[in-house]
Amino acid sequence: MRAYLPAYHLEPVRDLNEVLGRLSREPGRWKLFAGGTDLMVLLEAGKLSHRYFLNVWKLPELRGIEVAPESVTIGAATTYTELRNHDTLAREFPLLCQAAFETGAVATQNRGTVGGNIANASPAADSPPALLVYDAEIELVSARGARWRPFHGFYSGYKQMDLRSDELIRRIRLPRAQAGWRSYYRKVGTRRAQAISKVCFAGGAHLESGRIADVRLAFGSVAPTVLRAVQTERLLRGEKISPAVGRAASEKLTQEIAPIDDMRSTANYRRRVAQNLLREFIEMLSVQ
Ligand SMILES: Cc1cc2nc3c(=O)[nH]c(=O)nc-3n(C[C@H](O)[C@H](O)[C@H](O)COP(=O)(O)OP(=O)(O)OC[C@H]3O[C@@H](n4cnc5c(N)ncnc54)[C@H](O)[C@@H]3O)c2cc1C
Repeated sequence: MRAYLPAYHLEPVRDLNEVLGRLSREPGRWKLFAGGTDLMVLLEAGKLSHRYFLNVWKLPELRGIEVAPESVTIGAATTYTELRNHDTLAREFPLLCQAAFETGAVATQNRGTVGGNIANASPAADSPPALLVYDAEIELVSARGARWRPFHGFYSGYKQMDLRSDELIRRIRLPRAQAGWRSYYRKVGTRRAQAISKVCFAGGAHLESGRIADVRLAFGSVAPTVLRAVQTERLLRGEKISPAVGRAASEKLTQEIAPIDDMRSTANYRRRVAQNLLREFIEMLSVQ
């Protein structure tokens, strides 16, 4: 039983400039509060020392989904429900909508944001694998300016990321040239809803004349960070799908993931499930 909720201060803000000014003038004092679905759990569990939060939940500069000819740009404070209900995303980026659909349950989807999911940096987070398959870029802004960087490589270790103390994630950009790609998403957890992933997989591939011209594979819960399996991708590129290629890819995958035993699962189970999900994906590609 937990009944511990310490006093905390949630500060309203007028606009993005005010947030950036405060982050830059008072380094380390403020933490952003978007949906609060990660923060409140930590706070209630007594695992968060922070007490001062800037409420960015309704900031217009962090909200909205913009569709342009070359890309779709998603505000960091966009909720899972908004992702799920967006026509272009549903049509062109089904992995992201599937991840949103399988995150928590309705209450969490109404509050939780994609930017919060990225910044919380859990290796078990469900939307980052989809973002990796779509080659997402993220925009990081501070009072010093803005920079776009690839989402791939954003994490450098467990809960470590390329986000400076005065920066926030403003937007996520997905390139639209996905025509002809086939994709697959599967989250394996204890239940169909309200479950943290034991293993999560997102894959996308483009075939030409029966060969894998390009492929992207991303996993959650099998390493200290969400992982893009680049060595396995390299092995698959240019290959015709066959049982031997599937076996070689599965073997390579075990060399690049590093699952652990924890309260949700075991390293052995995760390794086996990751291999099975990769096999399912490759089998799906082999069906015309
Ligand atoms: C019941 C329940 C079920 C859940 N199920 C799942 C699940 O199935 N899959 C899953 O992946 N997650 C799940 N979560 C975790 C959580 O809902 C997600 O990680 C969510 O996306 C967090 O978003 P938020 O807006 O609530 O983040 P917050 O709690 O507001 O913030 C999380 C962290 O991100 C930082 N942050 C927020 N926005 C930004 C920004 N724009 N720039 C920089 N930093 C920022 C905050 O300072 C904080 O450190 C669950 C949580 C709960 C409570």
